[in-house]
Amino acid sequence: MSQDFAYRCTLVGAGPGDPELLTLKAVKAIASATLLLVDDLVNDAVLAHASPTARIVHVGKRGGCQSTPQAFIDKLMINAVHAGERVVRLKGGDPFIFGRGGEEVEHLRQAGIDVEVVNGITSGLAGLSSLGAPLTHREHAHGVVFVTGHAKPGDSGTDWPQLAATAAQAKLTLVIYMGVSSLEHIGEGLLSGLPAQTPVAVVQNASLPTQREALTTLGELVHTVQREQLASPSIIVVGDVVQGARAWAAQPQRSQKLA
Ligand code: SAH
Repeated sequence: MSQDFAYRCTLVGAGPGDPELLTLKAVKAIASATLLLVDDLVNDAVLAHASPTARIVHVGKRGGCQSTPQAFIDKLMINAVHAGERVVRLKGGDPFIFGRGGEEVEHLRQAGIDVEVVNGITSGLAGLSSLGAPLTHREHAHGVVFVTGHAKPGDSGTDWPQLAATAAQAKLTLVIYMGVSSLEHIGEGLLSGLPAQTPVAVVQNASLPTQREALTTLGELVHTVQREQLASPSIIVVGDVVQGARAWAAQPQRSQKLA
């Protein structure tokens, strides 16, 4: 299928933050780019792999800048690819888990550009792993749901009571992205289908030296996040697997984090 396209660009997952979590394929793609368009949650340390002659454009909303409109990013990519540049679009985590990777690919394909996608480690995986616990477990969780806490404007969003009931019934771990700013609404909805003592982990800046986390329960979630002043970007993990993180934190040899 790719032979039908005259132009190509690569959408690369930069992982959750730790540059050592980049894939080899991501490193190769970054090194071969002449233009890198970098999202806000990408750790700049991954740009050490870029060619010294590559142009690097930050298109994210953090760091004091306003968010670059998606249409502008799309146009920039399309024009650069048509001008013969080797364009790499670097996105935090995995490019196809939230973060609008799917929409970008659609726009590029509509413009006659083929897109190669290089997976990255999504922050939803890195969050609980960084606390030494799995997202699935034969005893505690038969599956995982990756869900956003932040719906598109005009969209009514996730039915949290329904999701909680399903998670309780089917033994599913919930991994919530972009949830911190709507925590009260999410917490209240989940409490109507899951017990208040359900364990919850909140992990901010997972895999980075600035990582902070809290282990709590659904009933205490809002209070804990306020008290610990946890903020975006954070991953919220809800389910019995979080007990594994508690056990790990309680180990005496855990006084120091593994390097
Ligand atoms: N494509 C990204 C997600 C983009 S949506 C991925 O696969 O990880 C942005 C949300 O991702 C943030 O609001 C936060 O919930 C989560 N996130 C991204 N990086 C994170 C990190 N290092 N630690 C915790 N959460 C993170």
